[in-house]
Amino acid sequence: MLTVEQAQEEILGYVDVLEPEEKPLLECLGLVLAEDVYSTMDIPPLDNSAMDGYAVQAQSTQGASDSSPIVLHVIGEVAAGYITEQEVSPGTAIRIMTGAPIPKGADAVVQFEDTDEEQRRVSGRPLAEIGILRQVSEGLNIRKASEDIARGDLVLSKGTVLRPQEIGVLASLGHTTVSVIRRPVVAILATGDELVNLGEPLPPGRIYNSNTFSIAAQVRCYGGIPKILGIARDNVQSLVEKIDSGLDSDLFITSAGVSVGEYDIVKDVLAKHGEIAFWTVRMKPGKPLAFGLLTRGGHRVPHLGLPGNPVSTMVSFEEFARPAILKMLGRKDWAKPTITAISESRIENSGGRRFFVRAVVEKRGGQYFARIVGPQGSGILTSMVKSNGLLIIPEDVELVQEGDQVQVQMLDWQEER
Ligand code: AMP
Ligand code: MG
Repeated sequence: MLTVEQAQEEILGYVDVLEPEEKPLLECLGLVLAEDVYSTMDIPPLDNSAMDGYAVQAQSTQGASDSSPIVLHVIGEVAAGYITEQEVSPGTAIRIMTGAPIPKGADAVVQFEDTDEEQRRVSGRPLAEIGILRQVSEGLNIRKASEDIARGDLVLSKGTVLRPQEIGVLASLGHTTVSVIRRPVVAILATGDELVNLGEPLPPGRIYNSNTFSIAAQVRCYGGIPKILGIARDNVQSLVEKIDSGLDSDLFITSAGVSVGEYDIVKDVLAKHGEIAFWTVRMKPGKPLAFGLLTRGGHRVPHLGLPGNPVSTMVSFEEFARPAILKMLGRKDWAKPTITAISESRIENSGGRRFFVRAVVEKRGGQYFARIVGPQGSGILTSMVKSNGLLIIPEDVELVQEGDQVQVQMLDWQEER
């Protein structure tokens, strides 16, 4: 039996970072930058005002206070987006709006609140003059040219995951598109004679194909593009047809048909299309796992055969497919967010496997507490619905007592993409 880490390592050895593509800026959210981005401009481009107020020479305000305002002549006004040719000299001021370039001669901005503008308005006094109520020093309320980004700066390095703030910075540099690692297309094939397509009536003894949809949703959650191939029946012809329709993908995921004693057809057919290894992984749920390469022409597609039980499918996806997708996306950080919590349940773990227990984690008094959500059968998909994390019991721990410290892989702390 392989450990979870050995299986992960083996799988990751077969997947590579995908090629870059140029994409419209907003579509790059959550993707990995494939180029270094240098600035071709200064941001801000010019010294400008951080406040609505009056551009002045600081020395003109010497000694100003509420009780003895200094009155300056207002010689003009400048709004954001305009450059004034007027020049501030001793004893004069230019009314200025936030973001407007600082006029020549000025070295400080006095904000409206530190002037008598409001009183003048109320009392109908002329605004051709302004009373300054506070002495200011040079540079006050001035944002310097290039204080954020200077021309030639390396602004974002290759490999950066683009969050909303990086998208904003790229926009401030005028990029309409950017080069990012493309999203992997993940083919998803369900196998089994008992499965029924959604939208069709359910004959007795049959079940709807739910795995395709939980897998497709997970693929999307982690940044891949699901390509749903439908259901292959447990016969050679059906399997071959379906496999062929997914060979142009970057990762091929099948569900079911990998457990011991399963119809051998699934394995045989997959083996004919490439190489395949069947593993048992030291974990529960999700012990059986198939991994290999499907080949067509010179093209090789990594294939991951997830177990069919709906919880096993999802847990195996988290542990094996998710890191593969993140690696293809150029991400370096594929560890799940994991926290330390106090167990509120007594949990037994027989058989020497790593037990992923569906649990609810709550924070109380600065401490995380985790409790098991009920029956843990690998077919009980609602146990995943009730949980927000997978409590991990190591292979060599046979019993977790109430009050013990445990590690929990959080399901809901999204790597947003
Ligand atoms: P198998 O690996 O084929 O033995 O399947 C294990 C269990 O998972 C069986 O109870 C199947 O009915 C169930 N199962 C397999 N595929 C799916 C699917 N696509 N959706 C829901 N349940 C499934
Ligand atoms: Mg089956």
